Amino acid sequence: MKVNAFAVQEPKGKLESYSYELGDLGAEEVDIKVSHCGICHSDLSMINNEWGMTIYPLVPGHEIIGEVINAGPAVKNLKVGDKVGLGWLSASCMSCSECMDGSQHLCSNNEATIVGRHGGFADKVRGHWSWAIPLPDKIDLAKAGPLLCGGITVFNPIILAGVKPTDAVGVIGIGGLGHMALKFLKHWGCEVIAFSSNPDKKDEILAMGASKVVNSRSPEELASIAGTLSFILNTTNVTLDWNSYLTCLKPKGKFHTVGAVLEPMAIPAFSLIMGEKSVGGSPIGSPELTKTMLDFCVRHDIYPTVEEFPMEKVNEAMTHLEEGKARFRIVLKN
Ligand code: NAP
Ligand code: ZN
Repeated sequence: MKVNAFAVQEPKGKLESYSYELGDLGAEEVDIKVSHCGICHSDLSMINNEWGMTIYPLVPGHEIIGEVINAGPAVKNLKVGDKVGLGWLSASCMSCSECMDGSQHLCSNNEATIVGRHGGFADKVRGHWSWAIPLPDKIDLAKAGPLLCGGITVFNPIILAGVKPTDAVGVIGIGGLGHMALKFLKHWGCEVIAFSSNPDKKDEILAMGASKVVNSRSPEELASIAGTLSFILNTTNVTLDWNSYLTCLKPKGKFHTVGAVLEPMAIPAFSLIMGEKSVGGSPIGSPELTKTMLDFCVRHDIYPTVEEFPMEKVNEAMTHLEEGKARFRIVLKN
């Protein structure tokens, strides 16, 4: 089966029309007809080979919404015609201890949708049934794509850190991931402080439920809220004054990064020791937690704030993201 896609051929290249053959369908695989695909900053990092693992040509796209059009004979829980979402992972081994434990996102033999294979800037994409997440009936398909990577990436840390509805928490970087984190934490019941470097976003951030916007690059503003937060989630990929953020935590507070900060993060030991503070990170989340998150979104009508571009305008959309103009997540539509 032929796939019509958009691919880059080299680092920082433009996306160009590209087609490829999918080959035989594996017994446990499904083919998905793509209707929408969100654009994550990781697509940009992969296009530019910032992580040194891009194989060209690369068809980016890993926030995919679509319909199952082919299902192998050993596929479980899905059938042709089902609406599904496919995120950062398209397969995991399903037999290692992490997979058997329900932590398939930690499988060391996993297959990432855009690493060494092709993703969702296309009319079709393939994946293992376990990562083709069945969508709740009432979900808004035009806005659901970003939940499949960005959404689950910020939902999982809320569970991992045991965030309570009575907590005051912070989110650093109100972009694609950060604005979804803000909405989740607000619906969780928390008081949410937004750390943003862009004053133009302030009114929209407050309208999303933040109680306050603090300049993420101002040590003075950070010092003014020292010792107030139980949990801080970093969604930026740049170097900030991490020690000032640790100072914003209360004793026993947790700092968690999902942003793929390229430089090593300087964390002074005493900033952790004295208040029993901890630092962690995580990738996406399991398929089961992704389903739970989607149900939570439908129940509370939580969706990313999206800007829609036709798939053919993918280069304009990438530039819009690169220039920091996305409000707050771009979705490509076929
Ligand atoms: P994004 O939409 O570009 O948002 C990133 C935000 O970071 C920006 O909106 C901006 O927020 C802030 N920022 C950017 N440059 C900055 C600077 N120089 N100083 C201060 N703040 C700055 O990106 P995204 O799609 O949310 O992705 C965020 C990160 O998460 C990326 O590194 C991505 O690769 C990573 N990621 C990780 C996982 C995972 O599994 N762990 C999954 C998906 C993505 P303000 O304008 O509010 O300052
Ligand atoms: Zn992503």
